[in-house]
Amino acid sequence: MKRMLDTVREYGVRDERVLAAMAEVDRRSFVPEEYGHLAYEDRPLPIGYGQTISQPYTVARMCELLIQKSKGKSQKYGRVLEIGTGSGYQTALLAKLFDKVYSVEVVPELARRAEFEIRNLKFENVKIKVGDGKEGWPRYAPYDGIIVAAMADEVPSELVNQLISGGRIVIPVKGEMMRGEKRDGKIIWEKLGSFSFVPLV
Ligand code: SAH
Repeated sequence: MKRMLDTVREYGVRDERVLAAMAEVDRRSFVPEEYGHLAYEDRPLPIGYGQTISQPYTVARMCELLIQKSKGKSQKYGRVLEIGTGSGYQTALLAKLFDKVYSVEVVPELARRAEFEIRNLKFENVKIKVGDGKEGWPRYAPYDGIIVAAMADEVPSELVNQLISGGRIVIPVKGEMMRGEKRDGKIIWEKLGSFSFVPLV
């Protein structure tokens, strides 16, 4: 665990809130038993159904991009929508950083397993549903932040609609990590380097 945190830090993640959340959530709980010995390696691992738990650095960096510049070190940052629950690991980190987490996963078995683990760890500020994340989760919109854990060809317009004014979205698009901030109904984009992801289906 310590080594995993050192690696993430070495790669440039500086936000202490993210690093603290990572120190508190045991990644091993979200990794299939047969890969338990690799849980703290900085690499993605198979979680079944052709999907993977994301690399720790990637998860940390995305969380950091989402909350950077937000005021106050210990202040939680409102409501976040996550697309692609997967193992639920990032969901748990977000639950440490935000008041409320809404997460959408397209594979029902993964959603169920993640939900079990999240409950097991006693998180009470997380809701998970099965569905197509490209539609967002209108019921609880608007969100202060949106984070997409799979590679998109384009930014789904519903996600933009469900973001508050001044809110942020972090989404990998065509190989590139993008961060957008909503201003007057439009998104101002920044490119933040290349990453690899499973595709958003
Ligand atoms: N952060 C997760 C990432 C899992 S990989 C983790 O670390 O475990 C990305 C996930 O996105 C997969 O579980 C995949 O099933 C899911 N996914 C892909 N397309 C989706 C879509 N359209 N809607 C919701 N989830 C989707």
